[in-house]
Amino acid sequence: MGPGPSDVNPRILGALARPTIGHLDPSFIQLMDEIKVLLQYVFQTKNELTLPISAPGSAGMEACFVNLIEPGDTVIVCQNGVFGGRMKENVTRCGANAVMVQDDWGKAVDTEKVAAAIKANPEAKVLAFVHAETSTGVQSDAATLCKLASDNNMLSIVDTVTGLAGIEVAVDAWGADAVYSGTQKCLSCVPGLSPVTFSERAIDVIKNRKTAVQSWFLDLNLVMAYWGGGAKRAYHHTAPVNSLYALHESLCIVKEEGLQASWARHRRNHLALRAGLETMGLSLVVNEADRLPQLNLVSIPHGIDEAAVRGQLLNDFDLEIGAGLGELAGKVWRIGLMGYGSNPTNVRLCLSALENALIKQGLAIAGGNAIAAANAIYAASE
Ligand SMILES: *Cc1c(COP(=O)(O)O)cnc(C)c1O
Repeated sequence: MGPGPSDVNPRILGALARPTIGHLDPSFIQLMDEIKVLLQYVFQTKNELTLPISAPGSAGMEACFVNLIEPGDTVIVCQNGVFGGRMKENVTRCGANAVMVQDDWGKAVDTEKVAAAIKANPEAKVLAFVHAETSTGVQSDAATLCKLASDNNMLSIVDTVTGLAGIEVAVDAWGADAVYSGTQKCLSCVPGLSPVTFSERAIDVIKNRKTAVQSWFLDLNLVMAYWGGGAKRAYHHTAPVNSLYALHESLCIVKEEGLQASWARHRRNHLALRAGLETMGLSLVVNEADRLPQLNLVSIPHGIDEAAVRGQLLNDFDLEIGAGLGELAGKVWRIGLMGYGSNPTNVRLCLSALENALIKQGLAIAGGNAIAAANAIYAASE
């Protein structure tokens, strides 16, 4: 129950164990085509260029930046946690200029500050932001931010590594241009793949670059010849065949449940966790409207040895929760309820384990109340 990787559904582990076939085998090409259609479903897009990059979420991030940005470009980067900082690093390594819009960790991206930055930098080509900040458990208003970009003739780059399948992601309705995700958060697949999708506008920009993409491996002009080649596919790299079986299975599971049902499940388990935490006097840090249901930022009560609590959870309950990062280190825990891991059994385990650990630390709370509070939420939503 950390910030990812989440628990992998056993069906997906079973898919990984299927025999490895060639990455140009007709059956495999059919599987690739199905993965594309399923990814279009979870991203809610008709984008032709929708595929999994053969590397983790960070490579999806890098693919968006290196393909869209050329030396000398200006990019407005919103930062309200760890991952916006990595976006800036990508921009400068592309030889481009990053204009930062900073918000406090734990707060959503302020769309008015972004509008002002766009006004002050009319030459800016791209607006980049994190939809679901895993370091702080915050969601930002992707629809408004993408619209700000397109209204001002800019492209948008959206990080939804933690958002996809946990909260609404609507690539076409937002008018987003380049969106990347990861497999090990709410898709509950193994780590190591990064689903991405690019709009027609983004593809035009990629096809009309003045300079070659600095990364050979991530150059989408080349990757497209393998993923977009219809019946004729050119070898680019050996696809991670078994990992793609796993992704296919995980996307089938999302489709079977239904996207809306998946978002509702994430929300229900988040509400049950919250109710239980509140009975222990613990509070969630993020404003209610901006909270991610799949990543809960819990403030640590005064005088508690937070590392000892996490240690006890791991040793006595076989349960991992996340520590705070950066400015929030030592101040918060991060409790993940992602994908297959977002279920009532995990919520109850986490609440009883935390109760136990906090009582051991000397906090005056009565055992058992947290689970009762969570159960009341489940009973009310039946
Ligand atoms: C996890 C994560 C990433 C990086 O994904 P990796 O698979 O670890 O490379 C990027 N952005 C966000 C918001 C994430 O949560």
